[in-house]
Formats: sequence, structure tokens, C-alpha cells
Amino acid sequence: MFELSAYTNYLGNAAYFLVFFFGLILGSFLNSIVWRLWDNIALFSRSRSMCVNCRQKLSWKENIPLLSWLVLKGRCAHCNKDISAYYPLVELGVAIFLTLVAYHYFPISNFSEWNLLRDFVFISFLVIIFVQDLRYQVILSNVVWIGAIFGLVVNISFLHYDFNSLALGALIGGGFFGAQYLLSNGRWIGGGDVRMGVMMGVWLGWQNIIVAIFLAYIVGAIFAIFLLLTKKADRKTAIPFGTFLAFSTVIAMYWGQSLIHWYLGLLR
Ligand SMILES: [Zn+2]
Repeated sequence: MFELSAYTNYLGNAAYFLVFFFGLILGSFLNSIVWRLWDNIALFSRSRSMCVNCRQKLSWKENIPLLSWLVLKGRCAHCNKDISAYYPLVELGVAIFLTLVAYHYFPISNFSEWNLLRDFVFISFLVIIFVQDLRYQVILSNVVWIGAIFGLVVNISFLHYDFNSLALGALIGGGFFGAQYLLSNGRWIGGGDVRMGVMMGVWLGWQNIIVAIFLAYIVGAIFAIFLLLTKKADRKTAIPFGTFLAFSTVIAMYWGQSLIHWYLGLLR
């Protein structure tokens, strides 16, 4: 007899491999976006990838996600300069993350391809913000606004989220960071964080954005204490808050409701 379950298992495992490889390629693409946005190079120009140091164009062999970096032992074949470990780490990170997201949505119960597509796009935007704020201390406003509009349209039109919840979320996120920005004249927090608060609001809705903000402060504080204790930073070192916001947004996307239930259970 035909074993349907064995067949779907087989299909499932193959799908995870595909998603993983797709993740490596997407990670490589996101690396190039982070760098091109930062260096003001046209995003979708035909120019091939190049070494960030000597600008030598890379052959296809030097441009395979993860593998090329390992084979080249983290050095450019032309100028011999170190290639940052950020690149393979981002590729591997995106691949692992997308595989987890696919695992989250399979088996296909209550599944919408819009959910999956939206999450892949959200994660792509968050990776760009995470890496860009960490490496260059900047959150580009175009990235955030495009992300916010995409999220708003998909959440409302295809996933039928409650508009009021998203609007309230944007108000909470934008208001909370906006107030700090105004009170401190932009010293505590940057304008990029305020815009990001709005984006997080329309992505997450009003409940989960509160979770995300709490979480970002907790993780940021732990990170800051760690840096102070290990003397890697002093009190004046700028903390890349967008990096923590990106991280906490992902957690709130998947575990926001569980965290709320857990927290409310503690109060009882
Ligand atoms: Zn080079």
C-alpha cells in the first residue's frame, strides 16, 4: 500500500534542505545589500560581487556562499586582505533561521503561503538592520519605511490582521521611542530607532510590540553589562540598539504570545 506519511516525510526533509540552501543564497544577497546600501552602490546593478578592499571582481568560484570563505580561509585571493567573518556568519545564520521558520510552519496545518513569504521578507529586513547597525551604527530610513509598508499591506490585505491593533502598535513604538528622542534631543536614542518602532508596531500589533521593546532593553542591558565587565567598552560606548530591536522583533513574532501568557501566569 502507498504510505502517504513516508512520502510527506521524505518531501519534508528535501524541502528543509532546499530552504537551507536558499537561505545561504539569500544570506549572500543580503550581505551584498548591506554593503551596497552602505557604500552607495546601485542595488540591482549588473556589476558582479567584488572584494570590499581591492574591488577586484569575484569569479563564481570565489562567490559561493560559505564555502568560498572557508576555502579561501577568510582572505581575498587577489589582495590577501582578511574578509570579515560577518559574511559567512550572516549566510549561515540566515540559512539556519529560514529552516527554523519552515519547520515552524510545517506540517502544513493552518498554513498560508503569505505567512511564509511575509516571514522570509521580514527576516531579510531584520538581518539588514541587525548587521548594518552593528557594523556601521546606522539604520537606513528607506529600509525601515519599505519594510513598514510591506508589512502593513500583507498583514491587512492577506493575513487579515486587525488594523486597529497595528495602528496602536505603531503609535506605541513610535511614541515610546519618539518621546525619548525629543526628551533627550536625540542623545538617548536615534531617529532610526523611532522609525523602527513604527515598523515594529505595524508588523507585530500592540501586544507583541510591548514584548519586543521589553526584550530589547533586557538583552541590550545584559550585553552592555557584559561589555563593561570585560572592559570592552566604557560608559560612553554607543550600543547598537537597532540590532537588539531586530533580534527582539523576531522573538516577539514567534513567541510573543507565549511570553505574554508566561508573564501573566507569574502574576497570578
Ligand atoms: Zn581583495
